[in-house]
Amino acid sequence: MKTEIMKSWIEVPENSDFPIQNIPFGIISYGQTVSPATRIGNKAIDLSVLADFGFFDELDIEDLSVFYQPVLNEFISLGKKKTNMVRQHLQKLFSVECRELQDNQKACDLAILSIEEVQMLLPVNVGDYTDFYSSIEHATNVGVMFRDPANALLPNWRHLPVGYHGRSSSIVVSGTNIHRPKGQTRPDDKQPPVFGPSKQVDFELEMAFITSGPTKLGEAIDISQAEEFIFGLVLFNDLSARDIQKWEYVPLGPFLSKSFGSVISPWIVTIEALEPFRTESPLQEPKPLPYLQHDGKNNFDIHLEVLLKPENIESSLICKSNYKYMYWSMVQQLTHQTVAGCNINPGDMYGSGTISGPTPDSYGSMLEICWKGTKPLTMKDESSRIFVHDNDTIIMNGHAQNKDLRIGFGECTTKILPAK
Ligand code: MN
Repeated sequence: MKTEIMKSWIEVPENSDFPIQNIPFGIISYGQTVSPATRIGNKAIDLSVLADFGFFDELDIEDLSVFYQPVLNEFISLGKKKTNMVRQHLQKLFSVECRELQDNQKACDLAILSIEEVQMLLPVNVGDYTDFYSSIEHATNVGVMFRDPANALLPNWRHLPVGYHGRSSSIVVSGTNIHRPKGQTRPDDKQPPVFGPSKQVDFELEMAFITSGPTKLGEAIDISQAEEFIFGLVLFNDLSARDIQKWEYVPLGPFLSKSFGSVISPWIVTIEALEPFRTESPLQEPKPLPYLQHDGKNNFDIHLEVLLKPENIESSLICKSNYKYMYWSMVQQLTHQTVAGCNINPGDMYGSGTISGPTPDSYGSMLEICWKGTKPLTMKDESSRIFVHDNDTIIMNGHAQNKDLRIGFGECTTKILPAK
C-alpha cells in the first residue's frame, strides 16, 4: 500500500502527529463512556460506536467485546495480524475514497469527537514493567560521572541488554501530576542517612514498547519472532530521585527512587505506523551472542524532545535526542527478557532506558544535561535548575518524519508537585 498518498476526509492540520497513516490506539473517557479509540488530526474516534454500527462486522474478529473494554489489553491480545487488520480497516473507512462511514451522519456524529472533549486514560493495564538501560551514551555518561571514566561501561554492558524489573502500579498517563517523593538519602557520607523530600528529582527521556502475547512460562521468544510480540510504542518519562537512588541502589538496583511515578503518552503508536522510519542500529562491538544477533533495520528514527516549564513561565527546550541512538534494539531486549523462560502478557511495558545522544544537547536526563549539578540550566525567568523544582512541568514529545509523512506520539507531560 502506498501509505504516503493516503488522505483522510477528517481534516489533519499541518505538522499533526496524527495523519491517517498513524492510527494509534488509546482509551478515551467522556460522559459515562470509556472506550478504545483512535485519533486522526484533532479528532478522537470512539471504536465502540463504530462497532455498534457494525463497521467491524466484516473483519475476522470473533468477539467484538474488545472494542468495549476500558483498557486495550484484550484488543492487543488478538495478536498483531488482527490488530493491524483493524488499523488498515480504519484507514480505509477514513480515507477520502471511501463513502461508507462519511455518508453515515448518525455514526459520524456519535463516533467522532473533538480531542478537547475527551480525557485520555491509561491505555493498558500494565501487568509487568521492565526498564532497560540500553543507550550507550547514557550508560557511558553515568559511568564516567559515578565510577571510572576509563571503564565507564561495566563488563556486561556490551554483551546483554541490562535491565531490572520495575513497578507497574505507579505508571500513569500523561497529564497526571506527581508529588515529590520522600525517602532516605545520605547527603554526607560521614553521617547517618536522613529522611525527607528528595532534592534531586529528575526525568528520564525514554520510550516504552508494549507487548502482545501471552507466552507460556518456560518458552523463550526467538529473535526472528520477537517483533510479532511488539504491539507499539509510547513516550515514557521514568521519573527518578537521584539522591534516593544513590543511597539505595547497591546491590539490587533502583527501588523507591524509580517507583514514585512514571508517565506515558496516551496513544500507542504501532510498529506498522513506524515502518517507513526503520533504520540500522549502532554497530555492536563485540558481536552479541547468537541468540541476540539480528540483521536488517531493527531501530527507528524518532526525534525526541524534552521541555521544562516553570509555573507561569514559558517552557525551555532542554534536550533533543533520537530513539535511533539505542544500542540494544527492542527485539534484542524482548528476546533477552524471555531467554531464561520468563513469560510475557498483553499490555506489559518495557522502558528503553534513558535515551541520550552523542552531544550534550541530546542528553536525556537532568543528571547528564547539568553534569551532576556542575552546569546549571537557565530558565526563561532567569532562574536556574540542576534538577526539577516543585511545580515545574516536564513535557516530552516525539515524532518521526520524512518528506511525505510525519508520525508522532503527541505529548507526555507531568508536573512535579510539592512533597506530601
Ligand atoms: Mn529508566
